[in-house]
Amino acid sequence: MLRTWNIETVGKVGETVRVNGWAHRVRRMGDKLVFIDLRDSTGLLQVVCYKPDLDPATAAAVDAIGPEYILQIEGVVQKRGDKQVNADLPTGTVEVVAKQVTVQNVSATPPFEIDQDTRQVNEELRLKYRYLDLRSERMQRNIRLRDTIIAFFRDYMHKNCFVEIETPILMKGTPEGSREYIVPSRLHEGKFYVLPQSPQQFKQLSMVAGFERYFQIARCFRDEDQRGDRQPEFTQLDFEMSFVTQEDILQYTEAMFIALVETLFPEKRISKRPFPRLTYAESMKRYGNDKPDLREDKNDPNELAFAWVLDFPMFEVDDEGTIAAKHHPFCSIKEEDREKFMRGEDLMAIRANAYDLVLNGYELSSGSIRIHERELQKRIFDLLQVSEEDQKLRFGHMLEAFTYGAPPHGGFAPGIDRIAMLMAGELNIREVIAFPKTGDARDPMMGAPSDLPAKSLREAHIAIRQD
Ligand code: ASP
Repeated sequence: MLRTWNIETVGKVGETVRVNGWAHRVRRMGDKLVFIDLRDSTGLLQVVCYKPDLDPATAAAVDAIGPEYILQIEGVVQKRGDKQVNADLPTGTVEVVAKQVTVQNVSATPPFEIDQDTRQVNEELRLKYRYLDLRSERMQRNIRLRDTIIAFFRDYMHKNCFVEIETPILMKGTPEGSREYIVPSRLHEGKFYVLPQSPQQFKQLSMVAGFERYFQIARCFRDEDQRGDRQPEFTQLDFEMSFVTQEDILQYTEAMFIALVETLFPEKRISKRPFPRLTYAESMKRYGNDKPDLREDKNDPNELAFAWVLDFPMFEVDDEGTIAAKHHPFCSIKEEDREKFMRGEDLMAIRANAYDLVLNGYELSSGSIRIHERELQKRIFDLLQVSEEDQKLRFGHMLEAFTYGAPPHGGFAPGIDRIAMLMAGELNIREVIAFPKTGDARDPMMGAPSDLPAKSLREAHIAIRQD
């Protein structure tokens, strides 16, 4: 007999079915009657076992069932009596009367209760047993919600003529201001790859390559000290468009987010349309930060206050006191500030065609219109005090690509984790990532990061210093 999902039993009253899943809860009523809430990925189903009607093997199996045991049950779907209907359960109008029960696997007692919200459980323990934590209803819902968001974006992008292009995970650094994870090369002794902070250079090179519209559900890696809701790896809806102005990107993105909310979250309310626009300078002056929370009612879980923050400064002085690109060195300069830029004056006042999308006080995305001319890109590197030699070594490929008919282009990269977190009403992105790291970048389940056998280190030409 083919397997029936729990949810499908509703349409199969009177039929004999085979259902499979986990023993979510077992209620024994005296020694004859046992109720099992059977859980599969579609939800719960009530199974009734009346032991006097069962063959001895099945009756013994029913006696042995403990929480989280894996069961296969054959039985007849029957309508529940009016008083027994459970309106909270999608299968609440039916139950399966068991004929045969097989225990397909047993389970140790889980270290925490997964038939309840696990938010109160110690997070280290939840992450060590993430595969159990993920069984809980809220976590199943969050991860599935994330999937629907990603599916929506993919579909939306494809409908708008974007091409999904996979870019390398092993690459040479992108200077976007974060520390990179480094990967030693076995074949090239003493040489290293790095993991992408973002596919920034590849997406720009995809524009030079003539794709005009690129996107990717892109994993990004940043080796930073972890703060709050940061993760060493996270996911962006990374995209880039050719022959666009800032206005094109803003309007495209705004329409996409409105469509996302209207399609997947109709219960939510976008406070202002079109999304309010502020300059970086205005935002800093009025709110003291560049990601203002513009909600009218901060207690309304369904309010979504999107806002654009525009005209970010091109440069900043970093923690070490050196001049750095505020966003990244590929942003173009605002026309009004171009003369200053060419003269190299008053650098901190020079603005880029760089913009952020903010939602309820969180930065959702950063982007910019890029430089597509070699000389201007070189000028940025000069102002950032990157030597001629370093420019060639690190960015020679970009500078060269710009000499072969690079179109004007720009892009954006909304963070999937934050979007999913805000839509799920969670306070931490770990709640919407299936297998996240801890606040200090560990994976307690696998035990990463970990030591490596001496042989692997030798092959990677690595010697660990003992001091
Ligand atoms: N690569 C940038 C980032 O990760 C986004 C962009 O400029 O498109 O923030």
